[in-house]
Amino acid sequence: MSTHAIFLDRNARIAETFEHGEMPALPSLNTMVLTCIDARVDPAHVLGVDLGEVVVFRNNGGRVTPGFIDELSALSAMVKRMTGAQQDPSFAVVLMQHTNCGAQSLADPAFAAEIKTTLDVDVSAMAITNQNTDLIADIDRLTAAEKIPGSITVSALLYDVQTGKASEVAAPKTLDELRT
Ligand SMILES: [Zn+2]
Repeated sequence: MSTHAIFLDRNARIAETFEHGEMPALPSLNTMVLTCIDARVDPAHVLGVDLGEVVVFRNNGGRVTPGFIDELSALSAMVKRMTGAQQDPSFAVVLMQHTNCGAQSLADPAFAAEIKTTLDVDVSAMAITNQNTDLIADIDRLTAAEKIPGSITVSALLYDVQTGKASEVAAPKTLDELRT
């Protein structure tokens, strides 16, 4: 059976007892998690996130790329419009990288050069060399991105795939605080 068919089968069983049709679109924890696409770091499983609680954004490495900055700034505008608020939204963004990440291979200059040559893809913003310093660098990228409202709070976690434990790399601060 294809995974496509497996998913339809699983969903049919889930839909039988579905009772979240009235759930609001805005997440109840007022939070976005940015993390890696790695199958071992699904926030629903490793952070105990329930349906409707957070917006989850995942990319290769869970890094703050130019694409993510565009997505986040557009999302901020969408939230402001949806809530009819006069002020910028004040949701939290939790960055979570993990140990033993495949994006560490993108830090190999020869491999990065090969991808650039063969695919015309620049992986420099996605590569992971040291999760602790890369998370701080990602907070710096958000701080420097003026299109993202200063009212947004940013923090960083490092998840260990061996122990299942997430540890704090940076405590929550608003971008306004970080920009002063
Ligand atoms: Zn990863």
